Amino acid sequence: MPDVFADLVGQDEAVDVLRRAAADAAAVLRAGLPDLTAQSDPADPAPTSGSDPAQAGAAERAEREPGAGMTHAWIFTGPPGSGRSVAARAFAAALQCGHGSGCGACPGCHTTMAGTHADVRLVVPDGLSIGVNEMRALVLRAASTPSGGRWQVVVIEDADRLTEAAGNALLKAVEEPPPRTVFLLCAPSIHPDDISVTIRSRCRVVPLRQPAPAAVAEVLVRRDGVEPDVADWAAAAAQGHVGRARRLARDPQARTRRDAVLAVPRQLTGVGAAIDAAAALIGAAEAEAAALVADTDAAERAALETALGAGGTGRRAASAFRGAAGQVKELERRQKSRATRAQRDALDRALVDLAGFYRDALTMALGAPVEPVHTDTATVAGAGARKWEADGALRRLEAVLACRAAIEANVKPRIAVEAMMLALWKG
Ligand SMILES: [Zn+2]
Repeated sequence: MPDVFADLVGQDEAVDVLRRAAADAAAVLRAGLPDLTAQSDPADPAPTSGSDPAQAGAAERAEREPGAGMTHAWIFTGPPGSGRSVAARAFAAALQCGHGSGCGACPGCHTTMAGTHADVRLVVPDGLSIGVNEMRALVLRAASTPSGGRWQVVVIEDADRLTEAAGNALLKAVEEPPPRTVFLLCAPSIHPDDISVTIRSRCRVVPLRQPAPAAVAEVLVRRDGVEPDVADWAAAAAQGHVGRARRLARDPQARTRRDAVLAVPRQLTGVGAAIDAAAALIGAAEAEAAALVADTDAAERAALETALGAGGTGRRAASAFRGAAGQVKELERRQKSRATRAQRDALDRALVDLAGFYRDALTMALGAPVEPVHTDTATVAGAGARKWEADGALRRLEAVLACRAAIEANVKPRIAVEAMMLALWKG
């Protein structure tokens, strides 16, 4: 039976830290210690914090005190697809594991990995932000005594999407944690844009790296039964994003969408073609996102209507439905936010593929001895490299990256993508 950390691809250092922390947490429980805070302060294994005397002190204590490898609040950082949420869930399972190790076989491990453990709460924002009400409710529930006798674990994926008010609600809980509550946050980085400095200062950071293509390919073969040559291709094309690699290897539609994106450079023959290519890219992202959220939206709508008695007849049902207009509005607001997020994510995946193509052209123009990201368009990238030379390839790569940054900064996607396509055409 593989343990709960088995799917954490190419992250040996992080896994070591988490295994030790889980063992220490189990020691705290065995010793019947009432409170973690008595043993340890947050310490940061990153070398940048070495100059901080308070943290150096904590690290020293970690050497000699049992349980000191464990703390109340953690941040998992790393590029998208590196496995932040996989790491957080695995650690949550290890904390609930009856053997204190994350064995993968006991009920604690099993229910946590299946998402049904009573003491593990998972926040997966499906919209653009995590609001204060959601966070307050969560913090309140997290303060209760764990029903399984171990830990109350709160996993917050995409903690960079906390609104300021939600961040403040969380900060209070992290500053004065209930004795048996553990917060696991996931964010792209510890940059203040992603996570507030005050929250970060209360957390131990677990940095994840972008896994090497070989490690990603290995897990696709071992876990998902993908053919080795397909796994190699998908791992390279996904540029270290494990989930993306799996989709490319297994989902023909994902491959078709990628092919369409990688055909863009050849289509840019003039201003009109560039505008058309922009419209096509946006349209494809919208269609992909719509397909992704359609089922959930319909199910939520049906559930709400049933709850409000919309299927019923008579005066009571009619008045109940009128009175519930606010709830319907709230649902529509949430669904719109989720659709926008899904569109941006789909568009971003396309831009990452496109950036990979121009990166290939750049490395070929420079004669750099690295493997291409997209082996299947390497010939086209090579032709581009000869035509544009390194300067032109670099300008185009920068245009794609600028487009991503602009969309992240809330520039309207259509405007950002049109500007990018024109820049890709003109060079
Ligand atoms: Zn276990």
